[in-house]
Amino acid sequence: MNTQHYKIYLQTFGCQMNVADSEYVASLLITSGNFQITNQLNKADVIIINTCSVRQHAEDRASSFIGRLKKLKIKNKDLKIIVLGCFAQRAKFELQKKFPFIDIIAGPLEYEYLPEILQNTFSINISKNSQHLNLFNKVSVFVPIMTGCNNFCSYCIVPYVRGTEKYRNIKEILSEIKVLLDKGVKEIILIGQNVNSYKSPNLDHELTTEATNQNINFAQLLEMIVNLYSSYKFWIRFLTNHPKDISYDIIKVIKDYSNISRHIHLPLQSGSNRILQLMNRNYTVEKYKEIIQMIRQEIPEISITTDLIVGFPTEKEEDFESTLQIVKELQFDSAFVFKYSPRKGTKAAELLDNVPKEVKEKRHFKLLKLCEEISYKKNLKYIGTTQEVLIELQKDKNTFIGKNITNKTIQITINDNSKSNINIGKFITTKICDIKNHLLISKLS
Ligand code: SF4
Repeated sequence: MNTQHYKIYLQTFGCQMNVADSEYVASLLITSGNFQITNQLNKADVIIINTCSVRQHAEDRASSFIGRLKKLKIKNKDLKIIVLGCFAQRAKFELQKKFPFIDIIAGPLEYEYLPEILQNTFSINISKNSQHLNLFNKVSVFVPIMTGCNNFCSYCIVPYVRGTEKYRNIKEILSEIKVLLDKGVKEIILIGQNVNSYKSPNLDHELTTEATNQNINFAQLLEMIVNLYSSYKFWIRFLTNHPKDISYDIIKVIKDYSNISRHIHLPLQSGSNRILQLMNRNYTVEKYKEIIQMIRQEIPEISITTDLIVGFPTEKEEDFESTLQIVKELQFDSAFVFKYSPRKGTKAAELLDNVPKEVKEKRHFKLLKLCEEISYKKNLKYIGTTQEVLIELQKDKNTFIGKNITNKTIQITINDNSKSNINIGKFITTKICDIKNHLLISKLS
């Protein structure tokens, strides 16, 4: 394939890890050949679709998108279609059979061979060590520090499609962050299925802590990043966490450094110990409450968000009531509420999916409503406060969107005669005057 000005279109479904993976693959091509990004699907010469398998709905959306590409492939025989992600891992042969026009199909367990595969497909020399290019000039960028998961929650497909935990080496993480900060990135978001369980791989020998000769853990990594790059003005955040891996040390580091986000996403999933056990979550409701208390005691201003699942097999009304109860008690800043859907190959899929659809829907509605009421009340407390805001995008001539250190979204409007110097990527200080749905509202004159 002649690589003269070939255009890449990215379509990513699913989690932050997929966003980072798509950009990584595009970066490999751009660094090695004459490729560039396009946001016009019809003009693309390479289409990268990164798929998700976490719910049936996500797989259906990816299938429908891939199906629509057949027409483009008929029109342009040179078009290359690359399908990545967890769905590609879980159902490679099914996808190949259904969409024979796909050129490359690779799941996360095959990513290590991608440079070679791309090299053969595009006849270019791919450099395996390509850095993240921040293709979309984002203010906030995901930096993967680990992939995979050892937890095997009974409903989750991730350990099967992404494998067990693998940690990125520290030198690579640090140098990627430095490149991003040098390019003006203002928020680094460390990502992984389970970031708190990070430990530096053995090849980072020279970086192991001298006192203990232990490999570096997540709290130490966080502290290292903040100290090493203290001359830059940036915030750091991390996603996602498992309650069993949240340690006092992590909370202490957040408390000690003002540029680490005062936001923690800590999936609870259910308020019933019986259901938590069936989910193989490895904590009890009591233990989870203790963790939240510890976090709030150390950092009272922190915002805590969560994930909840309703309608897990055998969930009775009393289990659901327990979830409502703990949600009322713990007052999350916001929550993602999901209706259970079985994933083939997981342990939970062997259980009878016996909660009727209407019951799942009713519980979903009720829990979501409760979470939204709590979220609204929590946001009310911000009215009248002054917040430092990182501006992330401009919605229209007079409206900007940003976030504060507790990861609340803030909409700032300026009037036509405003002298405010407000730009994407800037940190500004502003007063919150109102709230609208999930947004904190601020006006600058
Ligand atoms: S912790 Fe559980 S839910 Fe999260 S990725 Fe691992 S197995 Fe899936």
